Amino acid sequence: MSQQLILAKPSTKLPQPMLEEERTTISNLGRQMLEQGLTVGTGGNISARSGDHVAISPSGIPYRDITPEDVPIVDIHGEHIEGERQPSSEYRMHTGIIRERDDVGGVVHTHSPYASTFASLGEPIPASHYLIAFVGDQIPVARYETYGTAELAEAAVDALSGQYNACLLKNHGVIAVGESVDAAFEVALMTEYCARIHYQAISVGVPEILPDEEIDHLQDRFTDYGQDY
Ligand SMILES: [Zn+2]
Repeated sequence: MSQQLILAKPSTKLPQPMLEEERTTISNLGRQMLEQGLTVGTGGNISARSGDHVAISPSGIPYRDITPEDVPIVDIHGEHIEGERQPSSEYRMHTGIIRERDDVGGVVHTHSPYASTFASLGEPIPASHYLIAFVGDQIPVARYETYGTAELAEAAVDALSGQYNACLLKNHGVIAVGESVDAAFEVALMTEYCARIHYQAISVGVPEILPDEEIDHLQDRFTDYGQDY
């Protein structure tokens, strides 16, 4: 019996880019931000966490042009570790929230118009529509700080206070979080929807506000019934 010669096969695999799935999701959700009217121009930004790494939308590239390769990676302290493009100017806010919230796997920041209207008024949005339970018993407002600063990150963390899935950023826009970046995007959509309904309701009358017990009940139901609401 001849001895079988075992040759080591040369590896044909190229090194895998980091967080490939997260980068693809971010480039797709960027286009959806525009299509769903959640922002204008290059406003807003999106991040997805994987362990100690965060894929985040790049700075200054139009959403329709962002490819997965354009999406840089930072660590949870905001240090740029991969990708040629610069991370979004709001990387401190994304990583600041991610460091504080173990339950958060994705962050979406928008300038959606109805929610930004209440942000400019500095008014939280109360529970005038049941879908606010995606966020909590209200959508709170973070104090005003200049965009891109560590102070804005702190203000957002304070307003989210470990319990809300979104807050308004005073005179600016919206932060939405979720266990994944897709979940955070859904919360951003719900925030804008609730803001629009509340705006319309107070324009023609006085909406009734749902009690806290009902919000708790709704949050249990959302957990049980998944996407069917
Ligand atoms: Zn912004």
